[in-house]
Amino acid sequence: GCNICVRKCPFKAITIVNLPEELEEQAIHRFGENGFVLYRLPFVSEGDVTGILGPNGIGKTTALKILSGDMLPNLGGEASDWSDIIEHFNGSILQTHFEKIKDQDIKISIKPQHIRSIPKASSGQVGELLEGVDERGVLDEMAERLQLKHVWDRKLDVLSGGELQRVAIAACLSRKADLYFMDEVTPYLDIYQRKRVASFIRDMPEESTVLIIEHDIAILDLLTDRLHLGYGDPGAYGIITKPKGVRKGINQYLDGFLPDENIRIRSESIDFKQASASGRTGGKELIELPNLVKEYEDFKVELDGGQLYQGETVGIVGPNAIGKTTVVSMLAGKTEPKNSDVNLDLKISYKPQYIKADVNMDVGSFLATITSDYGSSYYKTRIMNPLSLDELVESKINDLSGGELQRVAIAACLSRKADIYILDEPSAHLDVEQRTMAIKTIKRVVKNMESSALVVDHDIYMIDLLSDRLMVFDGEPGIEGHAHGPYNMRKGMNMFLKNLGITFRRDEDTKRPRINKENSHLDRKQKRNGEYYYL
Ligand code: ADP
Ligand code: ADP
Ligand code: MG
Repeated sequence: GCNICVRKCPFKAITIVNLPEELEEQAIHRFGENGFVLYRLPFVSEGDVTGILGPNGIGKTTALKILSGDMLPNLGGEASDWSDIIEHFNGSILQTHFEKIKDQDIKISIKPQHIRSIPKASSGQVGELLEGVDERGVLDEMAERLQLKHVWDRKLDVLSGGELQRVAIAACLSRKADLYFMDEVTPYLDIYQRKRVASFIRDMPEESTVLIIEHDIAILDLLTDRLHLGYGDPGAYGIITKPKGVRKGINQYLDGFLPDENIRIRSESIDFKQASASGRTGGKELIELPNLVKEYEDFKVELDGGQLYQGETVGIVGPNAIGKTTVVSMLAGKTEPKNSDVNLDLKISYKPQYIKADVNMDVGSFLATITSDYGSSYYKTRIMNPLSLDELVESKINDLSGGELQRVAIAACLSRKADIYILDEPSAHLDVEQRTMAIKTIKRVVKNMESSALVVDHDIYMIDLLSDRLMVFDGEPGIEGHAHGPYNMRKGMNMFLKNLGITFRRDEDTKRPRINKENSHLDRKQKRNGEYYYL
């Protein structure tokens, strides 16, 4: 193993080194004798939106549970009571906070991480549920801005993931509370919806205090006033840093080195090399995509056509319910196009957005049914290591967490031999490190196989990292959709961001994309020049 970083890196077994000595005194909670330990807590600042950015499994949710009084921390040792906690935080902001928790003198409204269990807890309709919690009297505005009117009379258990997520966010924010805790707001939402949620939170009354965990960096950047980073060894221990400025915090996180803490959290930085504006990297033509049309009773979608080149990864952007799955399924020969004279002879490997987990098999055996490469050193370096699958081979598929299942599904998709790999939202449930590794894996496989990949994603950082070129879906969700491109990044991003009404600049240090403030000097200038995506 190497001695550089704290995280177990997928390539080398890395062990913990320079952890701060005073850390042991700052243990907040230990699960069982040799269980996970959380060190330090984030704290809020009144009237601000505070963010937490960090890998999965380092105690972010645990920290929220403790701060909300849901869980009594044991300070790393024997059980304690709230008086011990107050004593422990003597003289800090957290002392006052925990005094209020003890006296039940604080109201906290929570958006939980896992929304799938909400329908079980509430059997009514969306409208009834939201009317019951609307202490701020903002129901109409909220229904409009979070696009909930069409589901008002529906029961929770028939909602799509994205609809349920917005209902959960609405329920959390419509309460009158001293603190709003939100454990991830972007899962299942497309970019339009993410942006709407972000502006809705920003437009909360000035005195609102929000603490939010999020893996979509563009949204965190847009949304928060200050940022705690989390790092550690997932499943073993996690440390929460002091709050940082948002730009600085994100840059340090991507860089992998935290200067204030003097600690390296990752052996490599996550680099946003500026994509070449002209796109493709010189592969041979793989296929000429046909013009395809599909009409259902209430929905119509059309794909213009266009070329795909060997070795390239094409990002797909657009709202949900715009026809992405329908187009893919026509390409794969699973759905008959209206213009059925098209003759397609393509091998497509497809990872759907919602992954089914009802497989009673362990991960290793499952992957072995897909490829005879399983077990080879080639497969290990290409697929198993970068997706950190070794730790999962013996787990049953139906016991996996969302992020674990996602990594297995990506591996399964990439293990088949295909002309085109199509992955629908591979970043869902993954943290920033896992997203980055998933992208590297996809790109490498595609280059190696001289095939090509189409990747739908709603995380703009991921789109930026993965795309050689861009396909843009526009239209009206649920009614009609149109797929344009693939275009080079500049043209594609301009088209897409114009629809969204936002402009990006590049961070000077990391080159990462940053959303411009609406109506700022740069925003107006870039819109005037038609340069929405600054290259
Ligand atoms: P994050 O939100 O950063 O993904 P969590 O706070 O959910 O992390 O969990 C951190 C670690 O704490 C997990 O990896 C798990 O090992 C451990 N953990 C969480 N809840 C429990 C529990 N109730 N009992 C034992 N261990 C737990
Ligand atoms: P996306 O993948 O962009 O989210 P989809 O292709 O899944 O979008 O769906 C686009 C629209 O087509 C949705 O409104 C959906 O309800 C509709 N649709 C999809 N499949 C069918 C079908 N078999 N019959 C009727 N309508 C369908
Ligand atoms: Mg879909």
